[in-house]
Amino acid sequence: YMYVMRCSVEDGAFTRGELSRYGNIELSPSSGVLNYGQGLFEGMKAYRRVGRAGYTLFRPEENARRMQHGADRMCMPAPSVDQFVDAVKHTVLANARWVPPQGKGALYIRPLLIGSGPILGLAPAPEYTFLVYAAPVGNYFKEGLAPINLVVEDGVHRAMPGGTGGVKTITNYAPVIKAQMDAKSKGFTDVLYLDAIHKRYLEEVSSCNVFIVKGRVIATPATRGTILPGITRKSIIELATDRGYKVEERPVTVDDLIDADEVFCTGTAVVVAPVATVTVEGQRYSFRTGPDTVSQELYTTLTSIQMGLAEDSKGWTVAV
Ligand code: PMP
Repeated sequence: YMYVMRCSVEDGAFTRGELSRYGNIELSPSSGVLNYGQGLFEGMKAYRRVGRAGYTLFRPEENARRMQHGADRMCMPAPSVDQFVDAVKHTVLANARWVPPQGKGALYIRPLLIGSGPILGLAPAPEYTFLVYAAPVGNYFKEGLAPINLVVEDGVHRAMPGGTGGVKTITNYAPVIKAQMDAKSKGFTDVLYLDAIHKRYLEEVSSCNVFIVKGRVIATPATRGTILPGITRKSIIELATDRGYKVEERPVTVDDLIDADEVFCTGTAVVVAPVATVTVEGQRYSFRTGPDTVSQELYTTLTSIQMGLAEDSKGWTVAV
């Protein structure tokens, strides 16, 4: 099933949505999304709860607010936080039979906001569609926490200052498909992008944020409009600080990376992924992975909360 809700700019707000069978939707050839890329999405997961009926969402209001922020940048109306979270809950319940068993994965949820109304000249579309669909996903890594191998890309950039790198618009992704495919064909897991101006500061990976560890200090690139402010990133910063690490959000250079003990990525899909190697200008650098690492510690801390194995003292989980 999918959940669909519509809004015309004239009415100003999204009206009550409804569930329908998952299937094609009708779009005008002159819709804002098809012609000018007016589209935003979110990515979330619902986990089966441990020892109880029902499912768990992780900080869904954060996804709702991120979509609102993106909608502002893209000149689109957005559903309210309540409408967003309600739509997600309805989608989870309607697709409950597809939620994998505990420990075997999650139901991936994809909220999508598009300019569905017709517009010929460059301007915001007159109508918008918000829809939520879902699909079961296995654990990102079948064998527990499998380390990944990244390659630093200095010829292709994800985002420019003043652009849309800080919001989750659909148009951020098409330009990096080629770089990602090229990296995969050379045996890398993914690409680590650099900033477009100095070409020496780390930004992020195609769909996750990056952290480096040196002793008890953890650093991650500061978000200055060119990096997606990940909800996993924000949660890991808080959990690592609670556990006594010093966490710095600052510009992180390629030299800082090379000098690091550990490197890891965070995102809804990967959760926390240790990085085994990063290749920079043909030179391969290795980092610590395995049981006694900071990434393993933070992975366990976060997933225990997400799956209901540890007490959720921060109130991050929402039961469905
Ligand atoms: N950066 C990019 C470019 C992404 O697409 C994602 C996935 N949403 C992330 C970072 C991680 O964000 P989150 O932790 O909210 O999934």
